[in-house]
Amino acid sequence: MVKTDLFDTRPKVKKSRLNRLPVNPEKNDPQKAVGIGRFPSWLHRKLPKGSGLRQTEEIVHGNKLNTVCAEAKCPNLLECWSKKTATFLIMGNECTRSCGFCDIDFSRKPKPLDTDEPLRVAESAKQLNLKHVVITMVARDDLPDGGAQHLANVMIEIRRQISRTTLEVLTSDFMGNQEALDVIIDAQPEIFNHNIETVRELTPRVRHTVTYDRTLRVLRYFNTHKTCSSVLIKSGLMVGLGETHEQVQQTIRDLKNVGCDIITIGQYLQPNHHKLLVKKFVPPEEFKEYEDFGHSIGIKHMFCGPFSRSSYNADMVLNLENAVENDL
Ligand code: SF4
Repeated sequence: MVKTDLFDTRPKVKKSRLNRLPVNPEKNDPQKAVGIGRFPSWLHRKLPKGSGLRQTEEIVHGNKLNTVCAEAKCPNLLECWSKKTATFLIMGNECTRSCGFCDIDFSRKPKPLDTDEPLRVAESAKQLNLKHVVITMVARDDLPDGGAQHLANVMIEIRRQISRTTLEVLTSDFMGNQEALDVIIDAQPEIFNHNIETVRELTPRVRHTVTYDRTLRVLRYFNTHKTCSSVLIKSGLMVGLGETHEQVQQTIRDLKNVGCDIITIGQYLQPNHHKLLVKKFVPPEEFKEYEDFGHSIGIKHMFCGPFSRSSYNADMVLNLENAVENDL
């Protein structure tokens, strides 16, 4: 099996974007930030086997869909697509925000919503035989409801086409619009996910159009207004942006206080040279400490590791929950 560097493992689909590998002017100074191209051993991966990758690519592109896997240059793409799992990115591939960590293109006025998209997402989920469908979205601050009804339409269509499936939505904060959140609450996802992305202290730099407290309010609102107690609340953050250990612990506490059941913590990787530099490659032992800390204060599901992402092995939580239920 060939061992390969992280960004050499990308599929052909995004090759033109991957060719924009940055030159990091600080790369010879280990005390300063590090960029793309120099990875510690724990960030090297083996190439997956199997034909799933090509099939996933054909289904996604055949249905003219976007995925966050490709748009955000997720390091797990080869692994997930080989297992015929993908996370659909709906409402276009242009976002009305321009966060310091994210590779998705920015536009103040993205293209109008595609009313056929719900059908095509549902069709793709069916072709991929997904038991747990994860849908994420670009922020659509140009729309009065932030795209909430469109997301609900996608959920309704998936449920119509695949009766026995569970749904996870990873949403924007809808600018804190409670009516928009109510639309998603009424659509009843099994998992509601809204990422806090980073610690309070770094939020203005990492997500300049968002506040840390608004994210907490959105999570708390969903948790207190959800129509079914079994709906799980999830959030996630990146590390390696310059945060301290204590700040990460405080963020985990804050997420616990607003009702989070699931937290993901993963290594930030600079997607292109316009984006924030990596300040630190966090070793696996530190991820383990965060995981232990979260469990110690009562967070049920902690997924922490260099490659942990919001939607990585997303179905695992529901499998675990079902296993517990069956044991009772
Ligand atoms: S972790 Fe999520 S975003 Fe990344 S490749 Fe897997 S499904 Fe896609």
